[in-house]
Amino acid sequence: MSEKDLEFGDEFEFATRAVRAGQVRTNEGEHSEPIFTTSSFVFASAAEAAARFSGEQPGNIYSRFTNPTVRTFEQRLASLEGAECCVATASGMAAITATVLGLLKTGDHIVSSRSIFGSTTVLLNNIIDKLGIKTSYVELSNLSAWEQAITSETKLLFVETPSNPLTELVDIAALADIAHKHGCLLAVDNCFCTPALQRPIELGADIVIHSATKYIDGQGRCMGGAVCGTAEVVGDGVYGFLRSAGPSMSAFNAWVFLKGLETLAIRMKAHSAGALELALWLEQQPEVKCVYYPGLESHPQHELAKTQQSDFGGLLSFELNGGKEEGWRLIDATKLLSITANLGDTKSTITHPASTTHGRLTPELRTEAGISDGLIRIAVGLESIEDIKTDILRGMR
Ligand SMILES: *Cc1c(COP(=O)(O)O)cnc(C)c1O
Repeated sequence: MSEKDLEFGDEFEFATRAVRAGQVRTNEGEHSEPIFTTSSFVFASAAEAAARFSGEQPGNIYSRFTNPTVRTFEQRLASLEGAECCVATASGMAAITATVLGLLKTGDHIVSSRSIFGSTTVLLNNIIDKLGIKTSYVELSNLSAWEQAITSETKLLFVETPSNPLTELVDIAALADIAHKHGCLLAVDNCFCTPALQRPIELGADIVIHSATKYIDGQGRCMGGAVCGTAEVVGDGVYGFLRSAGPSMSAFNAWVFLKGLETLAIRMKAHSAGALELALWLEQQPEVKCVYYPGLESHPQHELAKTQQSDFGGLLSFELNGGKEEGWRLIDATKLLSITANLGDTKSTITHPASTTHGRLTPELRTEAGISDGLIRIAVGLESIEDIKTDILRGMR
């Protein structure tokens, strides 16, 4: 420690905390954060080992429990989300699993928005359900539906906002009030906005979940996740599951995500500016029936998006006048856009949700979810928007 090792609390702006929070320099005086690739840590004596294991003395024991690089990432992300505590996980799905299994028990009940990440639905319906923890699904933006779905067993409300691919929102502050009135925790999967655009804890949410694989990495390299919240809920409950169950983050991945956090705000600004420009252009195309993007004035929740988020993110979708044939033709004609369901990358991606991410739903359920055969999703990366427009036009007319 030197006199330059500051605590990066509230007195520093977001941009500063994104670059510096959580770093503790070693005696080597390194400028960039080191990667501690070690599975275990050494004690000075048998007595010190005993004190560490009993919890009497804080400090590292084993990297499944704590690792200095991972801890730096956790502290930096906690600072950005305005959370007391953060624990890092091996993937976004591990973060959701750790939240549910760390905090709930057999007989408890979850209320979730219907339009959530596909693997989350599979996890809740096929795995968590087997343990006797049931989930009810409600329409994301319908606050009274949330309240009506709550029973005396409900412990957790789970939401993704904005939704993917139709970019629907829920009023987080209003949903937090409903959760707390009924003694439930509200968990927000903040993957699409990241703390650079939306901070659910400031709006009253109890838990923020991340797939760091997406925008926090930002360049499509590593799998990771995180859970943020209070020391009691996350530091005890979620961490209690993690340290024994084992889906912890590797030191190398934590280092990549640390570097990702340093550029997160400027990347999210660029993703948002690109997506808005593309959305406005798509609205003008005669082949396009409608565009879903919270930054458009035509978006039914544009006003809520403006108050709840500081920008509108990189994800948009649009509906062609045609159906699957026209959709696939557009996708197959692209030369630049990557045909992949991933998102949060510098490289833009294009997907046909009806035949991929939502392909396993029955046609009726797809229609109910608003996923038409002519729907295309684009996660706008950091390439030139002019080149992306040219790429879309290749197969559109
Ligand atoms: C990708 C994603 C996840 C799962 O994260 P992984 O890192 O792939 O395990 C969870 N929620 C959302 C919203 C996602 O986009």
